[in-house]
Amino acid sequence: MTSIALQLQQLQQQIAAAKHRYQATQVVTLCAVSKAQTADTVRRAYAAGQTVFGENYVQEALDKQAQLQDCAIAWHFIGPIQSNKTQPIARHFDWVHSVDRLKIAQRLSDARLDSQPPLNVCLQINISHEQSKSGASPEDIVDLALQIKQLPRLTLRGLMAIPAPLTALDAQRDQFRQVKQVFERLIAQGIALDTLSMGMSADFEAAIAEGATLVRIGSGLFGARPPRTPTLTPN
Ligand SMILES: *Cc1c(COP(=O)(O)O)cnc(C)c1O
Repeated sequence: MTSIALQLQQLQQQIAAAKHRYQATQVVTLCAVSKAQTADTVRRAYAAGQTVFGENYVQEALDKQAQLQDCAIAWHFIGPIQSNKTQPIARHFDWVHSVDRLKIAQRLSDARLDSQPPLNVCLQINISHEQSKSGASPEDIVDLALQIKQLPRLTLRGLMAIPAPLTALDAQRDQFRQVKQVFERLIAQGIALDTLSMGMSADFEAAIAEGATLVRIGSGLFGARPPRTPTLTPN
């Protein structure tokens, strides 16, 4: 077994163990966050059975995708979205997790081709307010969800959150529980959703305990990332 295959197997076991420990009955999809990893590394993970990959930077992702066209990968865009990058994101990804305003959603819907299936989107929610700039506030989320549901080439699938990086399990769970409560409130309003994208390497067990259906794990699978080289043209 390659080391990636082994790490993947260990991670799947940790996910299964967390489900068991917290009696979580939902299906949990592993999104392998491959930012800063090479196309070769992605290919090795794919060969070991991993088919869902998450990327944060548009140009880096397009370069990798070009080298992996023979692989049946579901590409998830999970990074901040600049409005001038909506077209490549809409056309080269299957999912976008980081939609937090209507204008971006409209641009994604406009740019998605009719020949493609609808783009799956999650609304990014910010439950820790001042901690981070990204994400819609819980107060705005119902209206935003209702408006996004109207867009023709998007399918609203759920919520995504990146809570503050707390270390205590109870504190982590408390944040994820708040996300889950908003998720349930949306469903109670008649908005059909099936995806709760929450949990990263340091807190995926807490997220699973609170109902995550998709965990986004990078360093916990591939090892520590090299620092990202600053560029003058960020994407
Ligand atoms: C980088 C990143 C991850 C993965 O983080 P790890 O701590 O390496 O698992 C997950 N989600 C988002 C949005 C990210 O930017």
